[in-house]
Amino acid sequence: MNRFFTEDIAGDTARITGEDVRHIARVLRLRPGDGVVLCDGRVREYTAVIERIGEAEVVCRLGPGRLSPAEPAHRVTLFQALPKSGKMETIVQKCVELGVFAVAPVVTARCVALPTKEFEKKRLRYQRVALEAAKQSRRGIVPEVLGVQALSAVDFSGFDTALVAYENERERSLKEALRGGAGGRIALVVGPEGGFEEGEAADLAHRGVVAVSLGARILRTETAGMAMLAQVLYELE
Ligand code: SAH
Repeated sequence: MNRFFTEDIAGDTARITGEDVRHIARVLRLRPGDGVVLCDGRVREYTAVIERIGEAEVVCRLGPGRLSPAEPAHRVTLFQALPKSGKMETIVQKCVELGVFAVAPVVTARCVALPTKEFEKKRLRYQRVALEAAKQSRRGIVPEVLGVQALSAVDFSGFDTALVAYENERERSLKEALRGGAGGRIALVVGPEGGFEEGEAADLAHRGVVAVSLGARILRTETAGMAMLAQVLYELE
């Protein structure tokens, strides 16, 4: 069944507005009486029936609600060093499918692609990618893509566990770092194509971010976040 996010829910009535209206009417050609699944973006979803399709809104009657079964119990934020052009869309899409809570683009010493003033436009594009991926993978939230920030300025104090995938870490595996659980709010940090400078790794360690190895093979930056996220949720859930 087609799936949509809307926050506009009152009693047993929900309104879908924005781009989805045209999509419902013109592309999917849904009609009053057709069933849809609506999610409030806060982990609650409903089976619903379309009552009326207008120019600017689609009005639906909600059936009983339930917690979205697809939402992980752990909230994982991926701090992804800005990759070369085009890769961020893939990272956002795949990580939303895999269960990420938020994606935070960060600038590190060896980032090749530095953010321009136009970054907000890009962020909005990434946010749309997140929305489509959230619908497709039946998420109970639309993971947020945050504004770009310097890795050195990130405050990790709000996380129960913070881990950095560090290509020069030989001793500690991800599995070891997660032994004994991780708490509900987890930060994962992934470096850019050129990896981390030693000083950056030392600074992260100083700030309580634990360096882990993702194994004997060196992954591309766009692979590392997906692999790490999948392994973390597999291990914990
Ligand atoms: N150019 C670097 C590799 C960078 S890989 C080198 O040759 O050493 C890009 C990022 O992916 C790294 O900064 C790290 O965050 C992550 N990564 C890739 N493979 C990894 C591994 N086996 N263990 C830990 N982190 C890894």
